[in-house]
Amino acid sequence: MKRIEAAGVCGMGGAGFPTAVKLNPPPNKRCEYLILNGAECEPYLSADCRLMMERADRIRVGVEIMRKVLGGPAVRIAIEANKPEAIASMEKAFADIEGNVEIVVLPVLYPQGSEKHQIYATVGRIVPEPPALPIDVGCVVENVGTVAAIANAVERGEILLSRVTTVSGDAVVEPKNIEAPLGTKYADLVAFCGGEKEPPAKVISGGTMMGFAVSTMEIGTTRTTSGLLLLSKRRVFQYGSGPCINCGRCVRACPMNLNPAEISKAVEADDIKSAEEEYHVMDCIECGACSFGCPEYRTITQMCRRAKASIRARMAAERAKAAAAKAKEDAAKQAAAVPKEAK
Ligand code: SF4
Ligand code: SF4
Repeated sequence: MKRIEAAGVCGMGGAGFPTAVKLNPPPNKRCEYLILNGAECEPYLSADCRLMMERADRIRVGVEIMRKVLGGPAVRIAIEANKPEAIASMEKAFADIEGNVEIVVLPVLYPQGSEKHQIYATVGRIVPEPPALPIDVGCVVENVGTVAAIANAVERGEILLSRVTTVSGDAVVEPKNIEAPLGTKYADLVAFCGGEKEPPAKVISGGTMMGFAVSTMEIGTTRTTSGLLLLSKRRVFQYGSGPCINCGRCVRACPMNLNPAEISKAVEADDIKSAEEEYHVMDCIECGACSFGCPEYRTITQMCRRAKASIRARMAAERAKAAAAKAKEDAAKQAAAVPKEAK
């Protein structure tokens, strides 16, 4: 555990949550299932698939370490059915492992890589609403890249200094998966792939659904940079958004059972309080399914992100204020406790 913490291992599938914290559940909670998330479900991204094909041995070592740390849970390795080479490679690597270990082949669905959906798809358990966590239903989910990083940290003492990133899109000469040091500039990744076929109309950091557009190639990769996509004019749709027509498509599309239309209207009206308290925007996993299907091309996901950022900033300010008030109170108590003579 000390090595995992010292190596800076974190969730490499997106959220970047510190792994040492996830592997240390409260004493009253037991991990029954360790789920390996190999369901890389966004278009273009194939870094995890490649890792499972080429580094299945490291993933197996990581699984054995995690089983030991978590008290021997059953292991489920979730991979979508459109990755037959990854499934074959993992089956071979885990063929002689002892205990309750299974590879679960999932149908190809988006957003199946999200932690809660992965748990339901793999072991049929439902994580209740926040603040409940996967461990509350006996599960710990880790991305396959993170599991390989655990093996490298514990067995070899390697700090997490690199990751596999998919560089793709129709404006790249030769799309590749590249294991690059963290901090590698996007421009250098593209140069390594033979450069640009044509000037891209859009560059996305991450996947097409959850990633975000960037305006410079001077940015460096981080532990969560799963992809870099360069898309030509032919692949990019230029649009202007309109008002909501209450068609309900976003409500049907939302995998978190939210009402994205109402969230977007509240955010447009700068009513973050309603977005939070009435429409539970903090439950949004930013999957992009609502924006993808909206006939008015409303930027609903971006509005959810904006609301969440504003709520987090408010919470951080409240925490800082409470900490300052407590420090002042403690100082006053200490001063009052000093005997008169000493004063
Ligand atoms: S991005 Fe949209 S569809 Fe996805 S969870 Fe958030 S509100 Fe629901
Ligand atoms: S899909 Fe778009 S137009 Fe339809 S209800 Fe949702 S926000 Fe409104």
